[in-house]
Amino acid sequence: MNLLELFKKIRPFVKPYRILVAITLLLTLVGSLMQQVNAIVLDKTVDAINALIGTDFTWAQAAKILTVISIVLLGKEVLSALITFAQNYYGERMRIFVSRDLSQSVIERVLTFRMAYFSADENSTGKVQARIDQGVSSLSRTVQNFFIDLLPLFTSALLALILMFAANVYVGLVALGIVPIYFWITYRQAKRLKGWRREMRGYMESKSQGIKNIIDSINVIKSFNRESIEAGKQLDLQNQVTANQVKTRRVSFYFNGIKSFVKQVGTVLVIILTAYLVLIEYPGMTIGKIMYHVMLFSNVIAPITQLQRIFDDVNDALIYAEGFFSILDSEEEVEPSGNYRPEKIHGRFELKDVDFTYPNGNQALFGVNMVIEPGKITALVGLSGAGKSTIVNLLDKFYVPQRGTITLDGVDLKDYDTKFLRDNVGLVLQKNHIFDGTVEENILYGKPDATHEEVVEAAKKSFIYDQIMALPKQFKNKASDLSGGQQQRIAIARMFLKNPPIIFLDEPTASLDAIATEQIKNSIDAIKEGRTVIIISHNISQIIDSELVYALQKGRVEQYGNPDEVYKKGGVYKDIIDASARSLNIEKIAKTVSQEA
Ligand code: ADP
Repeated sequence: MNLLELFKKIRPFVKPYRILVAITLLLTLVGSLMQQVNAIVLDKTVDAINALIGTDFTWAQAAKILTVISIVLLGKEVLSALITFAQNYYGERMRIFVSRDLSQSVIERVLTFRMAYFSADENSTGKVQARIDQGVSSLSRTVQNFFIDLLPLFTSALLALILMFAANVYVGLVALGIVPIYFWITYRQAKRLKGWRREMRGYMESKSQGIKNIIDSINVIKSFNRESIEAGKQLDLQNQVTANQVKTRRVSFYFNGIKSFVKQVGTVLVIILTAYLVLIEYPGMTIGKIMYHVMLFSNVIAPITQLQRIFDDVNDALIYAEGFFSILDSEEEVEPSGNYRPEKIHGRFELKDVDFTYPNGNQALFGVNMVIEPGKITALVGLSGAGKSTIVNLLDKFYVPQRGTITLDGVDLKDYDTKFLRDNVGLVLQKNHIFDGTVEENILYGKPDATHEEVVEAAKKSFIYDQIMALPKQFKNKASDLSGGQQQRIAIARMFLKNPPIIFLDEPTASLDAIATEQIKNSIDAIKEGRTVIIISHNISQIIDSELVYALQKGRVEQYGNPDEVYKKGGVYKDIIDASARSLNIEKIAKTVSQEA
């Protein structure tokens, strides 16, 4: 990305605040004019006092000069302070607003992305987070630089330069000669640092991801006593970051030294030249001009010194903007949607020759053919990694298959309005996310406009009502306080509230105790009437209860049909059921249970 592109990209974000920009700019310009006042006053003072020396001056004369000077300098300072305050305040206000707009627009964008975006390695939580944070902060700084700082800086430098030329052409020329050299060194410095700054961005993303990983798996790390291994992994990264920082600083200090020296050379030249002109009694050259020129020269150089910061910031922005705008502008990541919205969904899915490969290259499905009948319970059976969840992912349009077609009620899934489709599908996963908020808010996620009575009803159907009522704050309790199994039932209550015609259950009872599993099974049985249900489960009782099974192995459908018939034929399905029965120790359980009776 180059400067012009960057400018074009951030312009729309600044446009709503043009009035703020105009106010700030105006104030800053006035401020930079006032900066020259000190130099002018000093010049006049020295000359006026000098003129008095050696004459029969009265103290009243001196007092008059000093009074005028004091009033001008102090008055200027008061005005300056007011302007600086207003300028900082309005400038900062704009930066804060722009930064809010940038964050919000990127968040809204990310929410529209398809699932494939989130499962790509380079888009892991920490990395996307870092990309957004750094993008927002460096872009809003750039906005400030471009629209608020840059123009006044140049005006200030230019004004000081004009005053120098007005005072004396030769002095002006000295300053004009030094400026390009100074400018060039500043430019070299920024260029030299650019590559390292880019490197730093990568490190920062990895660092943020690393910390996230540690917090996410802290219980595993602790239980295995692997703190030192994890610390070691971070140390490598820290060392790289440190090496980068150290060399960046070294180069910065080196260049800063050179710049300081060049500035001093300029000052010395200005002093020598002015002193010489004073000594040869060049017209208009008085002793006050020495100070005056030195101060003006300093006013010429000071803004250029700031230019270094702007160079750095803009270079940062050029780097971070790439990551940031790659999110904001990426059309291809936006979830595709058709516009087909039928009156009613029956729920007959058909997969034909479906191949699917995840973004990381992992092929999960191979030539899958499948029919899911409406109003029936279909069980997907297979070992872990067989591709069961992948099928559900495709049916909910989280991903699009590379080959083959998927239809719902005879219409290609691609043609469906994605939002409409998902309004008609209820998805209960093994691990359901509980959002920050109360129990009630979490259930309401299934239907935000539901009444409290409906929420209570849903909680009762998912057998969580009594447990909610036992909580200190009942429905107003924080949902994250619930146990894993209780959270699972909150998720099921969410689905009851949503009440969709199609339901996908991906190991919905995996984290539940036996009693809860039985209760949930009953409620699922109760709502299956007239709905299409797909269940993925390792629970034999749930599999056996289904009307149709598909046995998957390594991404292929090996067997399908009525559970009893498929079992009789032998094969993968029978193997899995038998193994499950053995693992449950069914014979012994049966004995125990019958003794009880
Ligand atoms: P199952 O539900 O039968 O346990 P999955 O459908 O989850 O199996 O996984 C099928 C295959 O796809 C596995 O090899 C798994 O590693 C892979 N897989 C699942 N999800 C992803 C993902 N988001 N990115 C890459 N590969 C994945």
